[in-house]
Amino acid sequence: MKLTLNLGFVLVVLFHPTIAKCQTTKELKTYVYYFASDDLKGRDTGSAGMHSAAWYVAGKCKEYGLSVSVVPVGGCKNVVAQIEGKNLTKTIVIGAHLDHIGIRRGRVCNGADDNASGSAAVLGLAKRFSAELKPNYTITFIWFTGEECGFLGSKHYIKSPRFSTKDHVFMLNLDMIGRLNRSWSKEPIDVPIILRELYEKYPFASDITFRADKGSDQIIFAPHMPVVFLHTGLHSDYHKPGDDADKINYEGMIKICNYAYDLVNKVLGKSNVDDYILYGLPIYSKIKE
Ligand SMILES: [Zn+2]
Repeated sequence: MKLTLNLGFVLVVLFHPTIAKCQTTKELKTYVYYFASDDLKGRDTGSAGMHSAAWYVAGKCKEYGLSVSVVPVGGCKNVVAQIEGKNLTKTIVIGAHLDHIGIRRGRVCNGADDNASGSAAVLGLAKRFSAELKPNYTITFIWFTGEECGFLGSKHYIKSPRFSTKDHVFMLNLDMIGRLNRSWSKEPIDVPIILRELYEKYPFASDITFRADKGSDQIIFAPHMPVVFLHTGLHSDYHKPGDDADKINYEGMIKICNYAYDLVNKVLGKSNVDDYILYGLPIYSKIKE
């Protein structure tokens, strides 16, 4: 009887698609607790802690089978990992900044929400996409350095991308996604149908979805391509020593990862990018009009 149950469990684990493909809270917690540990001393750009975080991400990406580059940027590093697509000339970017503000007034600011949360989510998404069939477009995952000191990493990337900016289908940025379900008010934005369809599946989605209008790396991409920015809001621990890993809503992060995954898959599912642009997201210059 015991043997049968164990065998059944093994079979469920092996063949259950949700267990095989979904990210887990355990995995996200492991990443966030590492990035936001005191050992990394707040991941200040150029610091030993930020270097360690970048090499950790690069090592994980290698382990998951992605091609990885660690790109020097002004004394620090962007980590760029790719999954090659069927179409080698177009890419989707999924990004998060890995750096934080380091030590302030003698106290370590661990930046669990800002932005260990987004960095962990992108790492989880990289693992998840790497376990799947070849996507229609190349997926480029980027962990930026220097966001907190003037978007150094995203500015560096946009000046020297492997794909020209016009061959970027869209950019998804995740910054501070660890506090889902806090109540806060946000101006609703008029979104294209590609997002509205997902809002029905993910009731929280309209609260956390922005285009280019908030200060994070997507504003550097936005003049060149459509962008979507996911963010669960500012709070009293923002840029303070209290932004710790035990305050993160890991179940919420999983929901956001699933939403991000579905959003990227919707775009990947469109074989013609021009169709997508017509159908999809307005670019920043249009939003500003
Ligand atoms: Zn941030």
